[in-house]
Formats: sequence, C-alpha cells, structure tokens
Amino acid sequence: MNGTTPASSANGHAAEWTPDSWRSKPIKQCPDYPDKAALAKSVSELKRMPPIVHPTEIVRLKQHLRDVARGEAFLLQGGDCAELFDYCEQDAIESKIKLLLQMSLVLIWGADKRVVRIGRMAGQYAKPRSSPMETLNGKLVPSFRGDILNGFHEDERELDPGRLVRAYNHSSATLNYVRASLASGIADLNRPLNWGLGHVRDPELKAKYQEAVDFLTEMVRFMGTIGAENEKLHTVDLYTSHEGLVLEYEEPLTRHLDDPTAHPSQGKKQYYDTSAHFLWIGDRTRQLDHAHVEFFRGIANPLGIKVGPSTPVDDLLALLRTLNPSREPGKITLITRYGAAKVASLLPAHIRAVEDSEYARTVVWQCDPMHGNGRSVSGGIKTRRFSDIFSELQQTLHIHKEQGSYLGGVHLELTGDAVTECLGGSEGLGEDDLSTNYTSFCDPRLNEKQALELAFLIADHYRC
Ligand code: PEP
Ligand code: MN
Repeated sequence: MNGTTPASSANGHAAEWTPDSWRSKPIKQCPDYPDKAALAKSVSELKRMPPIVHPTEIVRLKQHLRDVARGEAFLLQGGDCAELFDYCEQDAIESKIKLLLQMSLVLIWGADKRVVRIGRMAGQYAKPRSSPMETLNGKLVPSFRGDILNGFHEDERELDPGRLVRAYNHSSATLNYVRASLASGIADLNRPLNWGLGHVRDPELKAKYQEAVDFLTEMVRFMGTIGAENEKLHTVDLYTSHEGLVLEYEEPLTRHLDDPTAHPSQGKKQYYDTSAHFLWIGDRTRQLDHAHVEFFRGIANPLGIKVGPSTPVDDLLALLRTLNPSREPGKITLITRYGAAKVASLLPAHIRAVEDSEYARTVVWQCDPMHGNGRSVSGGIKTRRFSDIFSELQQTLHIHKEQGSYLGGVHLELTGDAVTECLGGSEGLGEDDLSTNYTSFCDPRLNEKQALELAFLIADHYRC
C-alpha cells in the first residue's frame, strides 16, 4: 500500500486509513463472489488500468461545488437509475447530454446562476436491493443488482467478477464519447437549437423553452457584438457520478496521485477514486461504523450522502465529521430524499442540525424528489407520481427559503427517451399508459417533458 492517511478517531474509526481498511468493517450489500480466483484476476486487471478521470478534473468539480455551497451556482445531477452496458451507444449518450443541456439552459435563464452538471452515467452500474431474490417471468431468481454484478436476463443472475472489468470498459467508452461530443461543439451556446426539444409536443412548454433559448441567443449575440466572446461559450463541463456501492471495483481504481492544488515542490499526494468525478453513498450503506463510510472517508473526491427518513439527526453531523473533518466547502453534497408526505416534517431538523453547527454553509443541499416517492401499481409495476415528485421539490425549495439555507441542486432519474414510467405530468399518464414505453430495468425515470417541467419549477422559484 502507498502510505496511509491519518484521520480522527472521534467516531470510533481506526486512526489509519488505507484503500483496503474498509475490509475489516461490517458491510451491507456486498457481493459474495463464489469464484474468488476470477475475482482476484479482475481486481488485478483493474489495478493496472489507467484512471478513468483525472485529479485535476476532480478538484475542479470540487471548486464548482464550493460555489454551489455558497449559493453562487446550481447543481444539476441526473441520469438513469440503473445504467446498462447496452446504453453505451451513441444515441443514448447524446440524448442524455442534450437533456441535461436543455435543463441547464432553463436553469441558467431562471436562476441566473452558473449550472454545474453531473451525469448519473459512465459508471452507474450497481444497484442496492432490499431483497436477494425477486420474481421474473413467474420464477424466483436472484435479484438483478446492476450490470457490474449480474445480468438482467434470468440466465445471467449469478454474480460474475468479469463484469467488473466490463464496467470499467463501458464506463471509459461512455466518457470518451461524452468528452468527444463536448469537444466537438454539442454544447456550443452559439448553437442552442442543437439541443432543441425532441419528443415534447405541449405548446405551453415549447413556448416557455423558446423564451429561454431566445434570451440566451440574444445574450450570446450581444457578447459577440461587444467583443466579449468567450471560449467558455463553446463548451461546458459535464462530470460523471455513480453510487459507490461495489468497493471491490472502487478500491483498485483508487490511486495515490499528486494533488493538483498543491505546488509540485511540496510533493503532496492524495487518494483519488478515479472511477468517476463524484461518488455518493446510498441510503442503505451509510452506517457510520460500516465499510462504505470507512472507504469514502479516505478519498479526496467530492462525495454525496443520501439522507432520508431513516437518517437520525445526530448521524448527519457524525457523517460530516467523519467524511469531511477539515470542513472543506463543497466536499459533501447532502442528497435529501424523504417523499412528498414526509419532507415537511423531517427536512427542517436536518437543515438546522447542519446549519447551526460548524458545518454551516459548507454543504451542498440537493433535493432528490425521486427515491422517497416510489410506489407499485397493479401487476407490481414500480412507478412514481409526477405530482409527488413535483410536490417534494416544491416543498424543499420552500423549506430552504424559510430556514435561510440554499437549495443548491436537484438529483433526478431521467432519460431523453419518451418513456412512460412516471404517472401524471401534464400528459396525464395513467396506470394503463405505463406499458406503452416502460423500459427501465430498475426505478422509473422522468421523460424529457417531465424533466423540463421540473427545471421550470426551479427556474420560476428563483425568478420570483
Ligand atoms: C439511487 O439513487 O438509485 C438509490 C438507490 O437511491 P437511495 O440510496 O436514495 O435509495
Ligand atoms: Mn433509483
């Protein structure tokens, strides 16, 4: 091991951290691979591979998130619930980039702030599951745990360590195309109609979107006229993220590398998880004394923590003290997901615990209005009501305003395809419509129109 990181033992953690110190802790959702030799082969292959992302990019994202924590920028994070290896394909990648760009255009216009974009993509391959078994085609089979662990098809439900390497390859190929598209002008603000609306037919939404496009086009034209054209108008940053669930994958991609913020003569190094720019700890794996918190307390990437009805107020501060002992602004994003019926009674106490502590104004508050609003309809189909999603986001905006804190971001499950997975919205999608185009392999996602409606909700909130 390349050295260790000393850390506080205030939370009962061992003083020394190493990339494998998580192995001595209890762990949830851990794959128990039957073929240990095959696992060791995959892990050693991953160890040899180059980083997928670079520390310079990781640090740049952390600086942007510091601006979000200070209320100077807005964070938009979105993508699939479970990204499949099959989504590593030109059209799927482009349509996701375009939807994130459309939404950020609306947010820039409405909130009058810079937008930081993070895709739930290029690595969102692992899913925590509440039950080890599920029914598929009338048969009880091991649950689908995401393409990094097993396959959706009933014949592929056994854990396969070879998938760890396939995850690396698909993640890199996806990010390569994201980078190539951005470098080739997909996000050029001089050409906003490049990301014109795809499936949206609603005249009211189209008119509102056109207003935002016209506003930005005029602004860019004006900047050109006065000679203030800036190379930043030709592209944007798009960072990647996934749930840091499979530590057998994250550990070999964690590298001890030069800290780009330090002068080279200092020789300062940090551990970076180079599988993505941003990693989050899920609702099921954030126990203070368990393996996931142990692993993530040692890495320098910005981190998300899912916060929900089962998060005790005291745990929240203990998590911040463990994962961000130096109180770096922007290091931690609290991704709140209570459900529309619970947010009003739970969020204020979480806000007060943080904002009345030494962590005031250091965290990014981000609303995930998806994960507290799941429901099943007849036939066991998983869905969410758009009205619940809208309501949780609306209440969250309101509560932060009331508490004097800043809702700096939104975390959504979405796709650029015209899927019919969430009920309602202005199309009034009913239970019978769900089967029209339900293609999610895990949680139901917002389609382009529903996602834009949420972007306008946020824009209108900040415009008033
Ligand atoms: C997710 O973001 O897909 C997820 C599983 O969320 P949570 O951990 O909040 O349930
Ligand atoms: Mn999900």
